Amino acid sequence: MTKSIAIIGGGPAGLAAAEALINTGHRVTIYEAMPTPARKFLWAGKSGLNITHAENFETFKTRFGAASDRLKSALDDFSSDAIQKWANDLGVETFVGSSGRVFPKAMKASPLLRAWLNKLDKAGVELKTRHKWVGFKDNKLLFSTVDGPIQIGADATILALGGASYQRLGSTAEWVPWLAEREIAIAPFKPANCGFDVAWSDHFIERFAGAPVKTVTAISGQGASKGEFVISKFGVEGSLIYTHAANLRDTIETAGHATLHLDLAPGKSEDQLCKSLERQNPKQSLSNRLRKGAKLTGVKAALVRELRPDAGKLAPAELAASLKKLPIKLSSTRPIDEAISVAGGIQWSELDANLMLDKMPSIFVAGEMIDWEAPTGGYLITACMATGRAAAKGAHNWLSKNEL
Ligand SMILES: Cc1cc2nc3c(=O)[nH]c(=O)nc-3n(C[C@H](O)[C@H](O)[C@H](O)COP(=O)(O)OP(=O)(O)OC[C@H]3O[C@@H](n4cnc5c(N)ncnc54)[C@H](O)[C@@H]3O)c2cc1C
Repeated sequence: MTKSIAIIGGGPAGLAAAEALINTGHRVTIYEAMPTPARKFLWAGKSGLNITHAENFETFKTRFGAASDRLKSALDDFSSDAIQKWANDLGVETFVGSSGRVFPKAMKASPLLRAWLNKLDKAGVELKTRHKWVGFKDNKLLFSTVDGPIQIGADATILALGGASYQRLGSTAEWVPWLAEREIAIAPFKPANCGFDVAWSDHFIERFAGAPVKTVTAISGQGASKGEFVISKFGVEGSLIYTHAANLRDTIETAGHATLHLDLAPGKSEDQLCKSLERQNPKQSLSNRLRKGAKLTGVKAALVRELRPDAGKLAPAELAASLKKLPIKLSSTRPIDEAISVAGGIQWSELDANLMLDKMPSIFVAGEMIDWEAPTGGYLITACMATGRAAAKGAHNWLSKNEL
C-alpha cells in the first residue's frame, strides 16, 4: 500500500534518503526551507567537492571517533566505492587525488547536484522549497510557507536538517528546541573542522594574512600529521588545522587554551638541521641563517620570528629544536558558524538501529544533525549520504511492519 514519507531538509542526507526510496512505491516529498536545495553541498564544491576517501575502508570506518561503531552498518551499506559508483552512474566522473581524497573531475558540485535532482524528479519525488518545518502540531508536521502555515501528515518522516554552521546556507539548528521539548537528548553543537584564534602581531597579519604554509608537520595531542594550512587575520585555518581541530577544541574547553606545535622542516632531522645551522656564520642575520641553514623563507621564516622573538639569539642546537617544534598558542576556536562541520546533535542513545527516534516512532533522522564528527577528507558527505540511505531503509522497513 502506498504510504507518504516526508523528508525534511534537502541537503545530501535528505536527497540520499529520497533516492533510496525510489521504487518502494511510497509517495516521497522533500520539504526544504530555502528557495533551492543543497546549498551547503554546492558551497562545498567551491573549494573542490571531496565526496569520499579511497583509503582502506576498514580504516575509513574508524574516522568517526566515538560514533564509528554506530555508523558502521550505514557505511557498510554505502561505502566509499559505492559513492564513487553512484556519482559515475549519474554521469559524473571521479578521480582519486594524491592524498586519497576523491573528487568529481569537474571539482564542482553543480553538475552532480543537477543530475541527482533530475533523477529524483523523474522518479516522482516531489520537492517543495520554501517550506520551513517549524515543529509538530496535533501530531502533524507544521510548516511555515509563503502562503502561511500549513500542517502535513505523513506516515513516516525523515529529518535531515543539517548541523549548525554556515547558517546562511540553511543549516540553522532551529529544530533543536522542537525536539528537545519532546525530551530528545541533543548534545550541544560545537565547531569541528574549524579555525582557531591566535594573537598575531599587527605586523605579521599585515604581511601574511591569507598566506599558505605548505608542507609542515603539525603535532597535537592527536598525533603528528603533514600537510598545509593558511594564516588568517584571526589565526590559523585550513586542512592541516582541521585534522587536529577536535583535539585542540577539547583541550581549549578544559585548559582555556591549546598549543599546536609545528615542524617547519619535516624532511630533516633535528640533528641534520643543527649541523647545517652550525655551518652558518653566527654574525649573519636570522633571515640568512634560516634561508641558508634550514631553507626557510617567507611565511615560514616569519613564523619563526613571530613565535620565537628571541630566535636571532639562539645557538644552532636550540634554533634547530625550535624549528622542529615551534609552538603556536591557540586561544579559542573560531565561531561555530565558520566551521566546515560540527560535533554534537541528536544523541545516539535516542536512536534505534534504523535511525528512528525511540521516543517518537515513525520519525527517523540522518546526516549532520546526529552526534558524530569526522575530519575533512570526504568523510562528512559519505556519512551524511550513508545515514540518509539507512534512515530511508529504516522507514521503509518500519512502514512494512506497521502496515494495517
Ligand atoms: C565550506 C564547506 C566546505 C565543505 N566541503 C566538504 C567536502 O569537500 N567534503 C565533505 O565531505 N564535506 C564537506 N563539507 C561538509 C558537508 O557539506 C556537510 O557535512 C553536509 O552538507 C551535511 O549534509 P546534511 O544533509 O546533513 O545537512 P545540510 O547540507 O546542512 O542540509 C540540511 C538542509 O536542511 C534544510 N533545513 C534546515 N532546517 C530546515 C527546516 N526547519 N525546514 C526545512 N528545511 C530545513 C537546510 O536548508 C538544508 O538544505 C563542507 C562544508 C562547508 C561549509
